[in-house]
Amino acid sequence: MNNDLKAINLTWLSKTSLTNLNAGEGETNLVDVKKYRSQGVEYPYVSGQAMRFYLRESIRRTLDKKVTMCVPDERGETCGDPKKCLNCDLFGFMRTIKKSKEKGKETIGGAARRVSPVKVAPAMGLLPFDENAVLDFLTRRHQKEKGELEGDIANVEIGTNVYRCGAAIDIRRVGAEENWSGGEVKVDEFLSGTAKLERVRKVIDGIRFISDYSKQARLLTDFTPDVLCISFQTRYSHRLQKLFELNKELTLDPRRVKEILADVTGYSDKVLFGLISGLIKNEDEIVKVFKEFKIERQRPDEVFEAALKELT
Ligand SMILES: [Zn+2]
Repeated sequence: MNNDLKAINLTWLSKTSLTNLNAGEGETNLVDVKKYRSQGVEYPYVSGQAMRFYLRESIRRTLDKKVTMCVPDERGETCGDPKKCLNCDLFGFMRTIKKSKEKGKETIGGAARRVSPVKVAPAMGLLPFDENAVLDFLTRRHQKEKGELEGDIANVEIGTNVYRCGAAIDIRRVGAEENWSGGEVKVDEFLSGTAKLERVRKVIDGIRFISDYSKQARLLTDFTPDVLCISFQTRYSHRLQKLFELNKELTLDPRRVKEILADVTGYSDKVLFGLISGLIKNEDEIVKVFKEFKIERQRPDEVFEAALKELT
């Protein structure tokens, strides 16, 4: 790995079948889909919080028994030990500090805070919701007080879509803490070398296998990356996130790809690109643009393998 590596950006598109990845507020008998509006048209989205949760669960699935990754308690508080804990290191935390007297020393109540080195974007549906959705029935069973079951029927919104997702990893902050105590900011590393890289690898691997989204028992779908770009940057920036501009006809804007690559390759040691065939209509045109920047088309799985290899 290059010691000047400051950021890894991932941006990807994923097509889903009929599903409901993130329910909105809803009503008594309606499970809706979270939606945003753009120029008067509604599109579905999956919140950044839900995406972080899915990514965390995906990472958790891969861990050895000896690796610590805490689970937030009912108030959302985590263990707060980023040195030991993968969750607190990668995803940050905010913890209340209790007033206590230990060994005669009084600690003052307050909050301890760690900014998340892993940033996750909401997944934005790119096709209008109304044209790609249906209202389905769902039978719900509740347990009444005496133990017998009672059922009711609810409506559930489900839809297919192509989502644009993204993540960025602030490499300098993984396994490190900013120290402001001396008047200027110092970065104190509590992990370095392979231990630090291993945590970054977990994030990349977690994105490849992301799968614990909500409602999969009845609405199983694949939401892993279908079209994907990863940059290994010597400057921290989120610029790559604007790479994929997809229109309703599933055509990617080649000019946009060119402009963003021209920018990002200026401060990236490596850019990887992969896709599965048949999702975007102008596949050949887009592959050609990447080729102009000497970036070869691969499959998404090959891109992930190559990315993990960069981190050894
Ligand atoms: Zn923790």
